[in-house]
Amino acid sequence: MELGGGGNKLRKLEFLIGQAKKGGYDTLVVTGGVQSNFARLAAAACARTGLACELVLAQMVPRDTEIYHANGNVLLDRLFGAHIHILDPADDAGAYATRRIEEIGETGRRAFVAPLGGSTTAGCLGYVDCAFELARQSAEIGVRFDQIVIPNGSGGMHAGLAAGLIIAGLHPSRIAAHTVLSPAEKCLSATAEKIDAVLKFLSFDARVASNDLRISGAQLGDGYGIPTHSMVEAVRLLARSEGLLLDPVYGGKAFAGLLFDIESGAIAPQSNVLFIMTGGSPGLYAYADAFTAT
Ligand SMILES: *Cc1c(COP(=O)(O)O)cnc(C)c1O
Repeated sequence: MELGGGGNKLRKLEFLIGQAKKGGYDTLVVTGGVQSNFARLAAAACARTGLACELVLAQMVPRDTEIYHANGNVLLDRLFGAHIHILDPADDAGAYATRRIEEIGETGRRAFVAPLGGSTTAGCLGYVDCAFELARQSAEIGVRFDQIVIPNGSGGMHAGLAAGLIIAGLHPSRIAAHTVLSPAEKCLSATAEKIDAVLKFLSFDARVASNDLRISGAQLGDGYGIPTHSMVEAVRLLARSEGLLLDPVYGGKAFAGLLFDIESGAIAPQSNVLFIMTGGSPGLYAYADAFTAT
């Protein structure tokens, strides 16, 4: 069993926790949504590495069911012993976190801050590694992936993967991302900025052009964390045909995008497609109501 139930944020946390430890910090402060997978995995990684963990959880999603606020990731955050602050919808998460960091400092402790999704340049490095692993494994098995399908939330996974592919001499347009958080245009420029920051940090002399990136906004629906019919269908299909669990916020929407692209012919028959499963299945328990209809 992977740490904390597993998921894509572990690759980022490997670097973020390292950065915090190296800098002599004793507390990690994380901001995110109520059902943040990053918050859950940060809490687990802190438990494992002996850091205190404070989660500042904002109401980013208009869902007020009891399970949304108490089950899924929140239940696990509590199990991992994190100190949880669930904000009111009107609260400013950034301002709240800043105040909390000051308060922590006044008690003589030192707080390291991990922003939304852990998508700092250091956090992205976990996915640069992933791109190298992918390039190596693809060579070993002799399969060239025409498309690598992923969700894009805070953009760190996409940015790290794209930077890694560029360094490995592969084109970043192989990645087909489906935004689940911000509108496609905004997601594109934010992701391109992150890629450039990662390349610069690694002293790699290249910059990405935004038309090298492929981000579709078609699966966003009414917004972040709001279920869509195609997401529910995609989660069900993979569960019933393969016994695999997608999550309702990220992977479910990205897989729905993949199915749509296959049906529309945007993905040619016989293509080699790699879908990266990013974890997040605890989110299913917080969204039970979206799956109850048969
Ligand atoms: C955070 C997350 C993503 C997206 O990663 P970003 O780096 O935020 O774009 C995808 N899937 C799951 C399950 C996640 O928790």
